[in-house]
Amino acid sequence: MPHTPSIRPVSIDDVEEWTDQADVVIAGFGVAGASAAVGAAQSGADVLVLERTGGWGGAAAMAGGFLYLGGGTPLQKACGFDDTVEAMKAFMTQALGPGVDTAKIDAYCEGSVAHYHWLADECGVPFKASFWGEPGWEPPFDDGLQYTGGENAAPFHDTIPPAPRGHVPQMSDKRADAERGGGYMLMQPLTDRAGELGVRAAYDMRVQALVVDGDRVVGVTARQYGRTVAVRAHRGVVLATGSFAYHPQMLESHAPRLVGRPAAAIEEHDGRAIAMAQALGADLAHMDAAEVAYFCDPQLFIRGILVDGRGQRFINEDTYPGRVGQAALYGCGGETYLIIDQASYEQGCSRPTATPELRHRPTWVCESVAELEGEMGLPDGALQSTVDYYNRHARNGTDPLFDKRPEWVAPIGSPVAAIDLRGMVGGFTLGGLRTSVDAEVLHVSGDPIPGLYAAGRCTSGVSAGGYASGASLGDGSFFGRRAGVYAAKG
Ligand SMILES: Cc1cc2nc3c(=O)[nH]c(=O)nc-3n(C[C@H](O)[C@H](O)[C@H](O)COP(=O)(O)OP(=O)(O)OC[C@H]3O[C@@H](n4cnc5c(N)ncnc54)[C@H](O)[C@@H]3O)c2cc1C
Repeated sequence: MPHTPSIRPVSIDDVEEWTDQADVVIAGFGVAGASAAVGAAQSGADVLVLERTGGWGGAAAMAGGFLYLGGGTPLQKACGFDDTVEAMKAFMTQALGPGVDTAKIDAYCEGSVAHYHWLADECGVPFKASFWGEPGWEPPFDDGLQYTGGENAAPFHDTIPPAPRGHVPQMSDKRADAERGGGYMLMQPLTDRAGELGVRAAYDMRVQALVVDGDRVVGVTARQYGRTVAVRAHRGVVLATGSFAYHPQMLESHAPRLVGRPAAAIEEHDGRAIAMAQALGADLAHMDAAEVAYFCDPQLFIRGILVDGRGQRFINEDTYPGRVGQAALYGCGGETYLIIDQASYEQGCSRPTATPELRHRPTWVCESVAELEGEMGLPDGALQSTVDYYNRHARNGTDPLFDKRPEWVAPIGSPVAAIDLRGMVGGFTLGGLRTSVDAEVLHVSGDPIPGLYAAGRCTSGVSAGGYASGASLGDGSFFGRRAGVYAAKG
């Protein structure tokens, strides 16, 4: 086999030797790849996973572990929450848009309870029936359920019945910063299950290009230990190699706001799967969409007000922190500050959190807002009028501008501080290959590319613009499993 660094498809006629073969060949052993492996093996296929690094896991094993599930899962019920498929669809359509793939949202919501059972009962993913209700990116302990999309805050809570849908696998030592966090506790059982079903894995195997026989994908080429090998797929190839958060040129072309800011991703997310399918005519979707993390502890910012570089508020601080991150990056260019008084700061710091490292010290502390505004270099009077207006209504427990919930609205007193949060945003890409609900990779013509499937963050999944924590492990496992099942059909 000649050395083929090119991303262009390789003709079967140019393959001199197949070094391995299987019914279903999967590129990437993260959440989408592991779910595809289990799905394909449960469907009776002989499965081989090719993983670039020395072990399974990917970004998923490092993740907080949220899976966005709902519609009345056993965990939601055990925690005392009612949810319906309709409410879940309505929320995801509004919050994850604009432009969501309606067929995917429908399939995902309608299949969510069954997917929970597959994870918990068939794969052994542990969930603890306890709800974490405090502000935070993740539960600090081993609770299994949390609000992770802003369902219970404006602008959604008045029109769509709210329910928490962030399901997190139970951690091994009851702490979110445990060595074996939620993502690991998802990946360990999934890969164990794959092993029990006879799935084989080859490591240090970097998939490079697709092998085609006419229009049909029949294998891949990969680099292993300095040589190029070819692996035959008799029924289908599944691409599951993650996002393009670490491909600077692709970021520049499609999601320029994330240039220099990759976060919650791994360097192996280099967009290769997207490019190798593009080279075969694959269509793309929502390449500009991104998850954006806001690097500040929600226990703090919910108790103050967030303002932009002109001293103006830009969002209700009680919503999902990822919505805050998107608003901060897209609306404010990343230039934001937290304004908080001493009492609220101390109260926030006294509450449990999974992210103590995001409890920044105040940058400026003053006796008055006028003084603070001067120290920060904001336009004269801008912050003063923002705080005056906020306090006037906060005394009555209201927030007419952004509808922050009454329990989080309190007048800002003295001493008052500002925390400089400029540049405190980063994230990963959500766009990628356009796929069908059955995880077939679609050609620009709209037809499926025969033999080619994909899932996870190399595809555009349920998020088209907005995001909710758990949507990645959620759609990666949901459509990953489907990719395996449909690839196994051949
Ligand atoms: C700290 C952190 C916290 C997060 N928290 C959450 C959360 O709570 N909920 C949530 O939904 N998401 C979360 N995420 C994001 C989530 O982990 C990813 O979006 C998700 O894992 C993507 O799934 P995937 O299968 O596409 O990629 P991955 O899980 O990363 O798997 C991709 C695999 O493909 C391999 N690979 C790459 N290129 C090649 C190649 N050429 N050939 C062969 N193999 C290759 C990689 O090494 C990797 O093992 C978090 C991420 C991080 C890092």
